[in-house]
Amino acid sequence: MKPAHHGGVEFGGTKTICAVGDDTGVILDTVTIPTTTVPETLNRIQEFFGHYPSLTTLGVGSFGPVEINPTSSLYGHILNAPKPGWANTDLKGELESRLQLPIALDTDVNCAALGEQQFGVAKAAQHFVYITIGTGIGGGVMQGGRIQHGASHLELGHMPIPHEPFTGEFRGVCPFHGDCLEGIASGPAMEKRWGKSSRHITDPAAWKTEAEYLATAVYTLSLTLAPELIVLGGGVMNQPGLIEQVRAGVEHQNRAYVSLPPLNTYVVRSTNTLNGVQGALLLR
Ligand code: ZN
Repeated sequence: MKPAHHGGVEFGGTKTICAVGDDTGVILDTVTIPTTTVPETLNRIQEFFGHYPSLTTLGVGSFGPVEINPTSSLYGHILNAPKPGWANTDLKGELESRLQLPIALDTDVNCAALGEQQFGVAKAAQHFVYITIGTGIGGGVMQGGRIQHGASHLELGHMPIPHEPFTGEFRGVCPFHGDCLEGIASGPAMEKRWGKSSRHITDPAAWKTEAEYLATAVYTLSLTLAPELIVLGGGVMNQPGLIEQVRAGVEHQNRAYVSLPPLNTYVVRSTNTLNGVQGALLLR
């Protein structure tokens, strides 16, 4: 019997990663394309998977908000995403008609959580949280080894975060909430506030502030979900020393109330940039 091959796509705000893998999610081929217009991006995805007639399924992880509830008439549609031209796109329907494959869909961050569980730092963890801090902030929760879904997907990036009173012009960058977590702690939020890309920010005060926001989010998730592990990924987490500052912030906020595991094994960093597409490969 010929081995089954599966396809995976991770739609991100700036780039889209496609992969072909085997039954266990091991990647055999991958390509990264810029996320431009809907037709152009879908054309390039179709071109890549056209080389693999042996595909039996396609798993898709998408930036949100996206309708992942199969009972909804909008199942598979991107909803009011701020990315120009992508709101209301029937992503699932478009891909199904182009590729003639059964498609399973979830959010990019839920897929990343799945990828971390299968191949990454959350291997063997049953209850954990994955958060990415980059162009946006999003998160997925695993409970009992499965992605947690409610009426829709979680929106951890938009949780309100207590913060110091802002004195300058900065009020947060979220177009919906202003100063939610994503609005004050994402890469674009840092850039707006400190006047340069987070990659070039060296001011210790900026990183102290960033670490406080992230520690507040992590501690809130720790209290509300009691996970075994919290995994932080995304480009902003590449800043040297940030993960240690976040751990210190969590410890400080906890005030020895909850008996947390050692922080260096409880709040960990993911550096796997393919976790999203790896998780998408595993969706059935
Ligand atoms: Zn928001």
